[in-house]
Amino acid sequence: MKFVDEFRAPEAIAKASEEVRKLADPERHYRFMEVCGGHTHAIYRFGVKDLLPPNIELVHGPGCPVCVLPMGRIDDGLSMTDDPSVIFTAFGDMMRVPGANGSPLQHKARGKDIRIVYSPADALKLAEKNPDRHVMFFAIGFETTAPSTALTLIRARQEGIRNFSVFSNHVTIIPAIRAILDSPDMRIDAFIGPGHVSTVIGCRPYEWIAKNEGKPIVVSGFEPVDILRGIAMLLKQLGQGEAKVENQYTRVVPWEGNKAALKAIGEVFELRPYFEWRGMGFISQSSLRIREAYAEWDAEKRFSVPGVRVTDPKAAQCGEVLKGVLKPAQCKLFGNECTPEHPIGALMVSSEGSCAAYYNYEHRKAAALSGLTPA
Ligand code: SF4
Repeated sequence: MKFVDEFRAPEAIAKASEEVRKLADPERHYRFMEVCGGHTHAIYRFGVKDLLPPNIELVHGPGCPVCVLPMGRIDDGLSMTDDPSVIFTAFGDMMRVPGANGSPLQHKARGKDIRIVYSPADALKLAEKNPDRHVMFFAIGFETTAPSTALTLIRARQEGIRNFSVFSNHVTIIPAIRAILDSPDMRIDAFIGPGHVSTVIGCRPYEWIAKNEGKPIVVSGFEPVDILRGIAMLLKQLGQGEAKVENQYTRVVPWEGNKAALKAIGEVFELRPYFEWRGMGFISQSSLRIREAYAEWDAEKRFSVPGVRVTDPKAAQCGEVLKGVLKPAQCKLFGNECTPEHPIGALMVSSEGSCAAYYNYEHRKAAALSGLTPA
């Protein structure tokens, strides 16, 4: 397949890995944060970590939108199903994420009408087919998924579909990176920039990271050659004492972003003054709420949302893992109390969660090699 095979070809991987080895200074220890959960999974899935010299440490960042959602928001969304006319819809990724009173899937088992959709447009279609019910879409994601939510709301308004609303949990990537850089316990040399978000926002919003913080950032793709080349570009900048934004993922990411998508976001959403991130506390201007013009389709205005605040179980270290302070396997609950079958934190069940990546690719492999379980 074009744009996939050539970025997974063994010879190309070997060449890119060799370039990384040549560029890495053996006297130095490097800490690179991959911001995006998609990168974390690709790194473990393709064994990229094993292709790097030992002095390059990859630190996982906060770029999994399901993982950064505090438990209380899940309970807030599920509280809307107390109204029996409500059909709760969400991406499949959300279904096993635990709230204080159980996950959406557990609520479904208790009789609530909870359904998986593949897009907000599917949720809107469901509303059209069920005029006597109310369909609520639990929206999550960074700027990557916000345009499709925005376009769906624009359509709902244009077509006057009033039995539909959105519970917006969309978050924005730049304030999260800023919070990481402000964190006193964090030392990062450079960033592997998020490929998906950047298809929408482009590369320009990262310029302050290079200019003000002196940290190189390379927006990279998700195939092994992409990631290795991105790391080589970071090493080259550090070797030359430079800090700039570069785009390795030019086949997908336009430097200026996607103007039509940004326009749709701007039409429907505005920044919330504050939003709570799991393990990172309240971060200002870090999430999107629905503008007044679309209030009729805003689930937070249509339903009385309790504003639940739940602290994570004491032993859970999701916050430290999200900030890159701890590796997943360093969490006290990893692999014993917290597993994909019995998750304590969203990081263990989301398709972009770093604990899930570690568990599925590293932990299972190690267990299989030791003869304990099949891989
Ligand atoms: S192992 Fe579980 S509790 Fe620990 S950080 Fe990961 S998701 Fe959170």
